[in-house]
Amino acid sequence: MKIRTRFAPSPTGFMHVGNLRTALYEYLTAKHEDGTFVLRIEDTDQERYVEGATDVIYNTLKIAGLTHDEGPDIGGDFGPYVQSERVNMYKPYAEQLVKEGKAYYCFCTKERLDELRASAKEGEVVGYDRHCRCLPQSEIDEKLACGTPYVIRQKAPLDGESTYHDCVYGDITIKNEELDDQVLIKADGFPTYNFANVIDDHTMGITHVVRGSEYLSSTPKYNALYDAFGWDIPTYIHLPLIMGKSVDENGETVVSKLSKRHGSTGFFDLVNEGYLPEAIMNYIALLGWCPAGEFENREIFTMDELIKAFDINGISKSPSVFDYDKLEWVNAEYIKAMSSEEFNNHAKPYYDELGIDSSCYELLEEILKPRITRFTQITEKLEFLKSLADYDIALFEHKKSKSTLETSKDALEAAIPLLSECEWNREAISEVLTGLASAKEVKNALIMWPVRIAAAGVAVTPGGCAEVLILLGKEEAIRRLNIGLEKVTKG
Ligand code: GLU
Repeated sequence: MKIRTRFAPSPTGFMHVGNLRTALYEYLTAKHEDGTFVLRIEDTDQERYVEGATDVIYNTLKIAGLTHDEGPDIGGDFGPYVQSERVNMYKPYAEQLVKEGKAYYCFCTKERLDELRASAKEGEVVGYDRHCRCLPQSEIDEKLACGTPYVIRQKAPLDGESTYHDCVYGDITIKNEELDDQVLIKADGFPTYNFANVIDDHTMGITHVVRGSEYLSSTPKYNALYDAFGWDIPTYIHLPLIMGKSVDENGETVVSKLSKRHGSTGFFDLVNEGYLPEAIMNYIALLGWCPAGEFENREIFTMDELIKAFDINGISKSPSVFDYDKLEWVNAEYIKAMSSEEFNNHAKPYYDELGIDSSCYELLEEILKPRITRFTQITEKLEFLKSLADYDIALFEHKKSKSTLETSKDALEAAIPLLSECEWNREAISEVLTGLASAKEVKNALIMWPVRIAAAGVAVTPGGCAEVLILLGKEEAIRRLNIGLEKVTKG
């Protein structure tokens, strides 16, 4: 049997990392067995239309590297793949169940159902009382003939138990009396969400249903439908929630469902913060799945390696915590592993904004690659190149290098003429500065510290003194050193 999985998002305009993990596990479940990954858009139950929402789905899958084999945009043998284009497919299935005595027309009015609900004691959930389940055929015919509005309900089994198996949660048993006579077709002729979902999964030949654990409790209802039709129940893989960690007002760590207060939860929000799509996918693959065998303890995976390593048995049922620090680490690993070309391509937009030209790319790659965990940090790290801040002269004072305003003045006075004559490369600049230190019989830091501060105007720079000077270019560097000298001279 060829495995067929589907990602069935509702177009909300937002791709939560939890949904993306579902999509990834669906993709991996299929691809690991050389199966088919289907995209189906579930837009029937939408409260309101969200502009551009389906584009968010397509763009996410594309950028995340989850290529679907069938879907609304590319077609396939089981289309249409958008639920709203399938609306006329569902009712005949419900009618079939009515004919077979497994479903019935229910003519109860809204008022009657409201009364029923109102009669419930506090805390009691009252389901439908099955009033129309056994209406005489003559009454049904009469009502239909006069056009009385109706819904179609399934006749749920009244006693016994139902058990189903979930690959992650094991066997789940419920008492059938807990099952309501669920509505399949609403008064407007449209299917309910659950009914459409089951009909779609069956008619699209879906073999493995991967989705969030919030669907565990409604799965018996889905199974009641598979049973009524005599269809095979798919393999279920329900995924635990993704949690986030925060600290409450008493300083206690609290773990709760991942939400905005823990950090960004949307795929594109994370991308905009500088996380690489490959790193995000790598990280979320490990959120609830543990590699085994030859991949045990491995943390960095390409998508192809994930396909090879993925195994449903490695999915854990305990909720995992989204760890932003870990994501940051994974991202940094991806950056470190990049070729120069890849690194420069990613960094270029930030370089361009700072007016850095390609002559500095090689040096910057060397300086930044081990230091950044996200490309977005480039702006902040190199901001000093764009303009010289009006910095405080206290920056020249540095205990560890024993630098004071006075030593800084001496160092700058001596260094400026030498650097003005110096060839502008790293070796030459370093030689001039270390040569100056030995001539003055002082430690290198006593020269390097004030020169770097005057050049950068900030205490922390990526790269040392010579690198900062090179990046500025000779003219700008000398200009800044003179400003520094003026500052320390005035005191
Ligand atoms: N449309 C549902 C959702 O976005 C999918 C449910 C399912 O996978 O069965 O949560």
